Amino acid sequence: MKWAVGLFLILLIQNWVNGLNLAKPCSNKLCKLPNYKCSDSGSGNSIPISKIPQMVLLTFDDATTVITYDFFAKVLFNKKNPDGCPIGVTHLLSHEYTDYSKVNDLWMRGHEIALHSITHDATIEGYWRDINLTTFKAEFDGLRKMIINFAGIPKSEIRGIRLPFLQTSGNVSFQGIQELGLNYDTSLPVSHYVDPPLWPYTLEYASHETCQIEPCPTASFPNIWEVPMTMWLDEKNISCSMVDACASISKDAKPISEWLIKQFERHYNYSRAPFPVFMHAAWFLRNRENFRGFQLFIDYIQQLSDVPGVMAELTNSNTNRRAES
Ligand SMILES: [Zn+2]
Repeated sequence: MKWAVGLFLILLIQNWVNGLNLAKPCSNKLCKLPNYKCSDSGSGNSIPISKIPQMVLLTFDDATTVITYDFFAKVLFNKKNPDGCPIGVTHLLSHEYTDYSKVNDLWMRGHEIALHSITHDATIEGYWRDINLTTFKAEFDGLRKMIINFAGIPKSEIRGIRLPFLQTSGNVSFQGIQELGLNYDTSLPVSHYVDPPLWPYTLEYASHETCQIEPCPTASFPNIWEVPMTMWLDEKNISCSMVDACASISKDAKPISEWLIKQFERHYNYSRAPFPVFMHAAWFLRNRENFRGFQLFIDYIQQLSDVPGVMAELTNSNTNRRAES
């Protein structure tokens, strides 16, 4: 018990030194939409679950290249949500190999562009866990400047972040996110609120979810949303935060699409929390059947009249910029 008190004091002193306040427990009395949301499986409003549109969050991490662009074009271009808006996805960019002209093209089509660091460094042990605030801001503000300058995207349209390897540095990362004026993070895996799944939540108050990759934020971060990486289960029931990390799946398109639909139904049939389809486009290169299975899955959800969405809509981004410009 003494060690717990000691740890609490250390955290309190660290946060005080950094000018942060320890996050208090969240209660649904305090924490209300539209500005606040506790981390739980409730939608935060009184709409019956069956009437809540099922959002689908499609995200792709790492570089956008000519090769990945072709995948996006084949499966997503010319497809529309039930409201007539084009389907978009969120591209969490890292700098190396990124073709910024393709990034501009995707953004003009209504896709969202978000931050995944300049270096995506994998060479220095503990780089992302131990990063200081100055380096953190250089990684992400630097990338944001390149996106603004090379892809012509306004600063106000770049709102979200995912840490490489899902490794945050706890409060330092989230202080950086706040100081950069971003709106949301989507780096924290969720294994407990899976069935029924967790809704996005705000970080002013403490999360109910157990920390999966230490360290996690302990301080209060007003106005920052967390879009949870609710884990999937592969065919051996092993949890995975990203689609391509699910090791035990079929090698054929049809059963792959059925497996994708099974993950989707956990959200669609229960909490209607936004369904995370978080992946790297390299998954399509690993086995062409993966791509075909993904296409079948997109075709399946296109038939459902209450499945409108993508991350770009969740974050209130715009739709078809090509039509506007
Ligand atoms: Zn990455």
